[in-house]
Amino acid sequence: MGLVILTGIVLSSSDVGEFDKRLVILTKEAGRVTAFAKGARRPNNALVAACSPFCFGTFEAFEGRNSYHISKANISNYFRDLAIEYDKVCLGSYFLEVADFLSVEGVDERNRLALLYQSLKALESGRFSHRLLRNIYDLKTWVIDGEYPNVFSCMCCGKKESLTTFSIKRHGMICKECSETEPGVDISGSTLYAMQFIVSSSIEKLYTFVLNSETEEELTRILDAYRLNYRAHKYKSEDFI
Ligand SMILES: [Zn+2]
Repeated sequence: MGLVILTGIVLSSSDVGEFDKRLVILTKEAGRVTAFAKGARRPNNALVAACSPFCFGTFEAFEGRNSYHISKANISNYFRDLAIEYDKVCLGSYFLEVADFLSVEGVDERNRLALLYQSLKALESGRFSHRLLRNIYDLKTWVIDGEYPNVFSCMCCGKKESLTTFSIKRHGMICKECSETEPGVDISGSTLYAMQFIVSSSIEKLYTFVLNSETEEELTRILDAYRLNYRAHKYKSEDFI
């Protein structure tokens, strides 16, 4: 067993045995991992505070065959401000659940980790509506996984101009001419621009804009429909957001 340093966010935590905890951590170094924290439920144990969902930091761990055993943790962000507001915890839990469901062990998940971290920071800041946060998080998650709507050219003729209509069936935009024969939903330039920005922006710059309520509503309608058609998995935490 070798000693390694893992940097990441605790996605979930459950009790095992009398005094131990089992964590799922999304890490920079090893993707999604399972880690055990021995004695983490004993009072005064140094690992107690580090073993909760949302904790971000470094974990010193011994690498076993299928899991890690944490010996030490250094938490740099507990996201404590999230935990005191019910609505924020609910949306934050949804972010964790999605990352948990879609991430894979031993695969490079650095983008997903960065997206999760930036999204939790944005949520904690209180500067964004929860609806916008979810739209940004979901669409960027689809981009990371490589299955997302094409918002840069017409799905019928390939043209990059006069994109006026969104087609769920075609996974993306349709130009004005093609929309005469191809059904879809007309969307405004600002909603299209918002989607283009979310798809192409770096993760660090994602949370630098807000939308007026009309645009936000339109974006939500489009992404809700897309989610319903192509992302049928039901997340437990969805009922609370
Ligand atoms: Zn076209």
